[in-house]
Order: sequence, then C-alpha cells, then structure tokens
Amino acid sequence: MRLWVFSLKCVATLFTLLLNVSCHVAASESPQSLVTRLAIADELKTADFRRFSRELEALELEQDVFEKTERQYFYYLKGYYYAFTGKYPESTERLHQAIEQSADPKITLKAKTTLLNVYVVAKKYHEAFILSDDIIRHLNESHDPDLYAYSTLAIAMIYSSSALYEEAQLYLYSVFNAPQYSARFQCIASQLLIESYYYLNEFHNMLELMDKNEQACLLANDSIFRNISKVFYSRYLLEQGEYSNALNFLKELYPVVIEENYMMLVSSVEALLAKALLNTKQLDEARLYGVKALENASFSDFNQAKIFSLEALYLVSKAEGDYQQALQFFEQLKDIQRGYRDQQQQQQISYHLARAQVQTKNQQIELLSKDNQLLYLQQQVLGQEAQNARLLLGLFVLLLLVLGCLAYQGLMGRHRFKFMAENDELTGISNRYHFNKLAERALQHCKKRDMTVGVILFDLDHFKQINDKFGHATGDWVLQQVVRTCRNFMRLDDVFGRLGGEEFAILLPGCHADKALMLAEICRDAIEEINTKPSSYEFRLTASFGVTSSDNSGFELKQLLADADKAMYKAKQSGRNQVHFFSGPSEPSSVAGTSSS
Ligand code: GH3
Ligand code: MG
Ligand code: MG
Repeated sequence: MRLWVFSLKCVATLFTLLLNVSCHVAASESPQSLVTRLAIADELKTADFRRFSRELEALELEQDVFEKTERQYFYYLKGYYYAFTGKYPESTERLHQAIEQSADPKITLKAKTTLLNVYVVAKKYHEAFILSDDIIRHLNESHDPDLYAYSTLAIAMIYSSSALYEEAQLYLYSVFNAPQYSARFQCIASQLLIESYYYLNEFHNMLELMDKNEQACLLANDSIFRNISKVFYSRYLLEQGEYSNALNFLKELYPVVIEENYMMLVSSVEALLAKALLNTKQLDEARLYGVKALENASFSDFNQAKIFSLEALYLVSKAEGDYQQALQFFEQLKDIQRGYRDQQQQQQISYHLARAQVQTKNQQIELLSKDNQLLYLQQQVLGQEAQNARLLLGLFVLLLLVLGCLAYQGLMGRHRFKFMAENDELTGISNRYHFNKLAERALQHCKKRDMTVGVILFDLDHFKQINDKFGHATGDWVLQQVVRTCRNFMRLDDVFGRLGGEEFAILLPGCHADKALMLAEICRDAIEEINTKPSSYEFRLTASFGVTSSDNSGFELKQLLADADKAMYKAKQSGRNQVHFFSGPSEPSSVAGTSSS
C-alpha cells in the first residue's frame, strides 16, 4: 500500500477509485484461455494482490504466444502492478506499451486513466493535463458507462486538486446529473462538487448538495467521501462564525473518522475542532487538538490539515500570551502555506502550458488538413488550365497569408494592449484602474451573498530614502520583491493591486477582520525578512499596514480604502512597520494590530 503514503486527498481517492473498477473484458474462449486468465488476474488485483502478482508472473512466462489484445491486457495489468508497488517509471513504460497496442478501446482507456493517476502521484502535472485532454477526446469509444464515469472523475480530481474548480465542475456535472451512473460515482461526484462550491463561495449550492451526497454515499456504503463533505460543512460553519454549532457537529464527527483511521480526515477534524474550541474560549482543549492534528497531518509535506492546525496553535499561543511559541508556529505556518500554494500554482501553470500545447497542436493539424485540401485542388486545376490556375492559387495563398498575418497581429496587439492597460509594468499585478474594476466586481458579489470582505492597504516605509541612497533601480527591485513575497500568501480570488508609487492594496473576499489582520501581519513580517543582498546593498525594508473590513466600513470601495488608509496613517504615526485596524467611524483609527518593532 505504498501509494497511500502519498495521501494527498486526490491521490488517495484516485486510487480508491482505481481499486474498484475492473476491466470487464469478456472472456469469450475456453476456461483455460489466456484472455480468461488475464480477466481473472484483473479481478484479483483488488481482491487479493498477492495472488494477482503470482498470476502475473505465470502469465509473463507465456508472453511469446500472446496475441495483440492479450499483450495489451498484460501490459496494462503489469503497469497497474508497478503503480501499486510504487515503481512509477516502470509503470509508465508498461502503460504506454498497453496504450500503443490499442487493440481494445476499454483496455486503452483503463491504461490511460491508470497512467493519469501515476502522473499525479509522481507530480508530473504537465503530462497529466496533456493526457487528460487525450482521454476526454476518446471517452466515448469504450461504450462502458462505469469506465466513462471513472475516467471523468479522475480528470475532475486533478482539476480540483489544482484549485481549478470551474473546470472540475464541468466534468462533475456530466456524472452527477446522469442517473445511469452508480451511487458510488454519484457519491464521489457530489463530494467534489461540494468542495468546488465551497471554494467558489457558492454556499447555497453547497448546502443543497449535502443531503444528496449523504444519500448517495450511504447507498454506496462509502463513508470517506461522505465525511470529507462533512469536513467542508464544518469549515463553512466556522467561517460563518457559528462556532458552537461547528463544535457540536465536529464532536459527533470525530469518533466516526477515528474509527475509519483515515489520517487526512482525522487530522482535518482535529484541527477544525481546535479552531472551534479556540473560538469558544476553551484554550486548553484547543491546544490539545491542535497538537494532535499537527502530528496526524504529517502524512505529506504540505496539506490543508497542517495549515489549519498551525493556524489554531498560533492563535492559541497568542491568546495565552506565549508570544515566542506563537512566533514559532507562525513561521511554520508561513512555510507550509507557501509550499501548499506553490504546489497548486505549479499544477495550474502545468495546466495552462498543457492547454496551450494542445491548442497549438490542434491548430497545426487544422493547418495541415487545409494544406492537403489546397494540394488536392491544385492538382485538379492543373489538369485543366495549368498556368492560370497556378497563378490564381498563388494569389489566393498570398491573400490568405496577408490576411492571416493581419489577423494575428491584430489579435496579439489587442492582447498585449489589454494586458498593458490592466497590469503594472514593473510588478505584473493589477494597476489602480484594474484593481478598482476587479474589487468593485468582487464587492458586488459579496454584498449580494452577505459575505464579509477584508481590505488591506500598505505602504513601504521611507522608500524615498532607499531610492536616494541606493538608486532608482534598487527601488524598482524592492517593489518587485515585495509583490512576489506578498503574493505567496494570497488565495486565488484575492485581488492584489499597486495603487501607485509604493502603495498596495489587497481585497479579500469572504475574509473577516481577524483573517485580514493575520494576513497583513504575515505580509508585514515577510517583507521585513526579505534578504536585500541580491540587490548588492544591505538595508532594512519594512512597510506599514492599515486594515478594515466591510463589517466596519460597508461595501463601498471608496470608503473601505479611505478607512484602511486612516488605519495605515496611524501605523505610520506610531513608528511604522506595524499593522493597524480601523475599528469604526466613532474611533477612526484605533490600534488593533501587532507591532513587531
Ligand atoms: P513613508 O514611510 O512616509 O511612506 O515615506 P516614503 O519615503 O516611503 O514616502 P514618500 O511618499 O515620501 O516617497 C515615495 C517615493 O517612492 C517617492 C518616489 O520617488 C518613489 N517611487 C514612486 N514610484 C516608484 C517606482 O516605480 N520606482 C521607484 N524606484 N521609486 C518610486
Ligand atoms: Mg512610503
Ligand atoms: Mg506612499
């Protein structure tokens, strides 16, 4: 079971799936035929892995007499065997061989989907996304509904684990909205939909699905996917500030997940319990669960449970006044958050690269087929009026080329122009104009759904002196480093913009004041830690932060920025390198943040 060591949620679930779908290739010949023995081995691979390995060894001795389908089947099973024992290069090679044989479309699809799982476990996301595209195009060829649902969900899981939730939903709907798929597939699809709704802040849809998920998973006798959904529901309760409801819900869930002993779930529930206890002022118990959660979350380097537990432990230590320990947890938290985010970003970059590559390939194929058409036309015409036709064709091709070039230039120009109009040239983030546009849109969205929005404004301290002492180029370098550093801590739907000079703003949809303050504190600390040596100078770099939220300042962007600015001004006045919170119109800029100076 080495694969379970890589218990990223998606990986574990991919292989849970893998274990439960067999190939259903008909054994048409006599009981002793090779196809029958291969089909038996296929069934054994989930029921009795040892016997499966022995059967495979015996079959290997008869390789010389294999026919094409048998060979393909054998390669697929061997690829599965290697995947299961953690030998990814060998598995990849065998699965490729199975795909190349392409004798039976069902085995081909099975081999491709197994290879997809191997790529994900081996973190080869680029290959995984390219293969997904290929699987999607051939999905209908197997004429097997189970296999269709299985492959579709495997693809949805990759998108989901890369935080590409809207893309994941497209695939999930195709399984969830189709009653012909078994309860097991409905259970998994609804869990992944719940997850996507949660991250897209579509809570209404998420709540609606909870019952359906429960029913489908009960029918399928699958508790893991049911409990993962419950973890998302608990996170929702906590985010809504319903702490005692969350606490009761989690206390009921805890013994259930302990019983199942699935570490990803156990540690997530423990970490959330710590948060709920913290918010109901039960610090001792909160610490206890936080520590347990952190221990149990050691199944992978970066995971959400680790983040939750470190957040809770950091806040507990802070509330207890143990600042030294709080700082230790805080620094660990920063590392894990950065790693987690980097991993998701890497997956997203792979996705975009793969999509671009696939599009280019498709365009090339289209061009080639157009070329062929042209050649065919050319031959026909040549047969009649050779000279004239060639001339006409030449003109036609020339015209096409000129038009194509113009269209391409226009398109590229428009893209470039749009990018330049919306983004700050130096740092690459939104400029003031584009920030305002995105922020207004996010505010409208949140206001409609009654979601709190946090706003952070910050300005570098004594930046003019940096320019004066070390030159404008060093100043530019500083601005780029600050943006790169702070970006690490942001979620995908946060809006980050350079409002001008050395002043930046972050709008955080769905973030209450405490979270916004925490993020500001993290950024403040990270800016202070930037190593300036690579600029050829060593100097101190700090920034002052003002924070507010829609609970205090309403949903008008102008007011939010004005209030955050007041708080920031206070931070500057109080000695800089601080975070201040705007706590309300009656008391325009009271201190609520942390000072580290
Ligand atoms: P404070 O702590 O009060 O904010 O002091 P400060 O020196 O940071 O503030 P001030 O507003 O006096 O100076 C901001 C400086 O930022 C002045 C301007 O030359 C510089 N600046 C603005 N845009 C850029 C830029 O794109 N690159 C560089 N290198 N400097 C810039
Ligand atoms: Mg400044
Ligand atoms: Mg300024």
